[in-house]
Amino acid sequence: MLARVSDTLANSGVNSGTSSGASSGATPGAATTATPAVEVLSADKVFANGTRGLAPIQLSIMPGEFISLIGPSGCGKSTLLKLVANLIEPSDGRLQWWRGGFEKVGTPGRRLAFVFQDPTLMPWSRVGANVRLPLDLAGVPRREAMERTAAALAQVDLQPAAQRYPRQLSGGMRMRVSIARALVTEPDLLLMDEPFGALDEFTRNKLDEDLVRLSHERRLTNVFVTHSIYEAVFLSTRIAVMAANPGRIFGEFPVDEPFPRDAAFRASGRFASLCRDLSALLADASIASRPA
Ligand code: ADP
Repeated sequence: MLARVSDTLANSGVNSGTSSGASSGATPGAATTATPAVEVLSADKVFANGTRGLAPIQLSIMPGEFISLIGPSGCGKSTLLKLVANLIEPSDGRLQWWRGGFEKVGTPGRRLAFVFQDPTLMPWSRVGANVRLPLDLAGVPRREAMERTAAALAQVDLQPAAQRYPRQLSGGMRMRVSIARALVTEPDLLLMDEPFGALDEFTRNKLDEDLVRLSHERRLTNVFVTHSIYEAVFLSTRIAVMAANPGRIFGEFPVDEPFPRDAAFRASGRFASLCRDLSALLADASIASRPA
């Protein structure tokens, strides 16, 4: 597993050149002719102990889309995200990234970053050094690394905390550091596994607002695992509702609402109605998840 993680870090495309950054962009949710950022082509997963984590999945993710994966525990959300990150391999079927194999991931316009639920910061290093880590590992010259780190910290409103240690930060701030550490690699594709699941609702809402703004500004493609209906509706251009036994995509739920989204969207009748409809679909997915 560690080897796979390091493969992915190596393929996160950190280098000293200028990145194409958001060059892949298209209007979120509206891209139909562009090259898909990710294609899951009948990929399934049977684990070594015989557990079927996922039935064959067919999913195409277009540049600029924000896709959330939601569904009952054990429906394969994390497994699907790990397949997309190339942290695990499918048992059958395959995946493509920008119509190519994973070996091309990391080149300009094809950069990938992963944010886990646990911020996994180095406690002995200051915030700035934590964010700079992927650039240091990639041998990016010090000055450029410092500039990119400052820019990433500014994007998550953390510049004033650059000299602090992780223990001096709140949970929300620690998660911002983790996001900055992903942004510093200038990803095109950002994968997040329940990044705000451990935070209180107020902090989570604020981080969601920042994430939606950042994703829109940088035209990121996002795949985001969550248990929260509200969070999924707020963030996504499309939600894949998954069911278990076997893990599969039960239904797709488009959220065709303009960006950027803000607190006013969350307070709107349209938001409430989308949450109600998604909740109904999720209830159906839960019923369909009962063991046969
Ligand atoms: P979710 O993220 O939706 O809760 P997971 O993707 O973690 O679901 O898991 C899907 C299914 O695969 C579950 O039944 C889980 O127990 C199983 N599973 C996940 N990882 C492994 C593994 N490494 N070995 C065996 N079974 C696994």
